[in-house]
Amino acid sequence: MFRERVFADASSSYEDADFVMFGVPFDATSSFRYGSSEAPDVIRKASYNFETYNDFFNIDLTDLHIHDLGDLDLDTHTGDMLHAVHDVATMIIRDGKVPIILGGEHTLTYSCVRAFTEASDNPPDFGVIVLDAHLDLRDEYLGAKQSHACVSRNIIDDLTDNCVLIGVRSGSAEEYAHAKEKGVLWHSADKVDDAGIEPVIREALDALSDRGCKRIYLSIDTDVIDPAYAPGVGNPEPFGLSPRDVRDAIRIAAPYTCGFDLVEVNPGYDRGESAMLGARLVREFIAAKSVRTC
Ligand code: MN
Ligand code: MN
Repeated sequence: MFRERVFADASSSYEDADFVMFGVPFDATSSFRYGSSEAPDVIRKASYNFETYNDFFNIDLTDLHIHDLGDLDLDTHTGDMLHAVHDVATMIIRDGKVPIILGGEHTLTYSCVRAFTEASDNPPDFGVIVLDAHLDLRDEYLGAKQSHACVSRNIIDDLTDNCVLIGVRSGSAEEYAHAKEKGVLWHSADKVDDAGIEPVIREALDALSDRGCKRIYLSIDTDVIDPAYAPGVGNPEPFGLSPRDVRDAIRIAAPYTCGFDLVEVNPGYDRGESAMLGARLVREFIAAKSVRTC
């Protein structure tokens, strides 16, 4: 681990913390443009822009117990990254705290979900909600099985099919066919636009609850947001969700959430607005989770 600065208001010790954050500066399987490895530190810097007080929840983040471990010390080996994320997530879960992971590319989510799977009853009593423009259901991509483009496929095939994808608007013909064949639960960005985010996220939570899930892991691939608002991502995809949609999804899902990540911010491709939005969404999750418990 190395740490230049902590996320704003992450002033608690590890022992006292309810929320424990760490960064994963890894983008070695990026397919279109590199740079998400810079995101954890840029998101931390951006976090100081905001007031400590959250008016919607009437809570001040300085009153909460948040710890920032810093960033994993990584090279470009995907397997090493996955092991490191798994080990740290396992420690945080074992210690009864809520892990918050700052990516880095989406590949890391697999290890967080694996850590929860191992810590869960059998059959698993938790599910996964992924907000993403992309299906990420490829069997392999550019010769790699552990790639950001395969992360939902790997979670569903290896770990749990209690998984719902929201905000989808991109995938190969094979990925859409695979989703249909396997009964993957997913909702398009157009559906969110038509129906509103609230019924969509509630439908996802109900579907997971019907399968016996008591808790969820929430993964936000920042490219779910329209590139007009978040152009600094690895694979921008038009016709996306609004920042307000994603904030509302976080507010509704937070009470059920046992872990959270925000991935794929790529700070080299904008003027700071994507990392700023990412930092704000992380802060919204912390506020929402601390106030709303199920
Ligand atoms: Mn993704
Ligand atoms: Mn994506």
